[in-house]
Amino acid sequence: MDSALVVFSGGQDSTTCLFWAKQKFNRVVALSFTYGQKHAKEVEQAEIIAREAGIEWQCIDASFISNLASNSLTNSTMQMDTEKPAGSPPNTFVPGRNLFFLSIAAVVAREHGIKNIVTGVSQTDFSGYPDCRDEFIKSLNQTINLAMDYQFTIHTPLMWIDKCQTWEMADKLGVFNIIRTQTITCYNGVIGDGCGNCPACKLRKIGLDKYLKIRKI
Ligand code: ZN
Repeated sequence: MDSALVVFSGGQDSTTCLFWAKQKFNRVVALSFTYGQKHAKEVEQAEIIAREAGIEWQCIDASFISNLASNSLTNSTMQMDTEKPAGSPPNTFVPGRNLFFLSIAAVVAREHGIKNIVTGVSQTDFSGYPDCRDEFIKSLNQTINLAMDYQFTIHTPLMWIDKCQTWEMADKLGVFNIIRTQTITCYNGVIGDGCGNCPACKLRKIGLDKYLKIRKI
């Protein structure tokens, strides 16, 4: 397999996927999006990580997403859910985000002559987001293939692993310290270990603490 496009936010998961792709493919293009997110710093950080890794980086304005529906990642007046409410996704869910991102990514990939698309979604730690589930990815893969009459393969290296195993994967790829210090997972845009209080920081820390206990490298 020759080339891949990675949907790249500059967070722990997509950065791990970026280096996974770099090892697996000859050519990698990283694609980031601005979508009116409060923590816009993650996009600046995504560019820095890609540049330092010698990976082509592209950024697309998808800010229409934040105008379509209200959510606490793009609406600064909304209080962020810290727990998943019963029966619905938390208000950090951005409706349609992965649908739009992956559809746009497919168009960009096709322009580059790329058939492999990599995304860091995980059903294991999916936080109640329906567009992180394997069923959605497989369905969308079929849809974009039909939409463009092109044989894309969407790769989801993190689909069935948890945050602890994602840290392990980063370590095996030799990028543990880059992931730990350079990525932004935090919903408040704090680099590395983050603010420590938001749901994304808590999930990341639980995985990290668990991994550090069993770390052999
Ligand atoms: Zn945080």
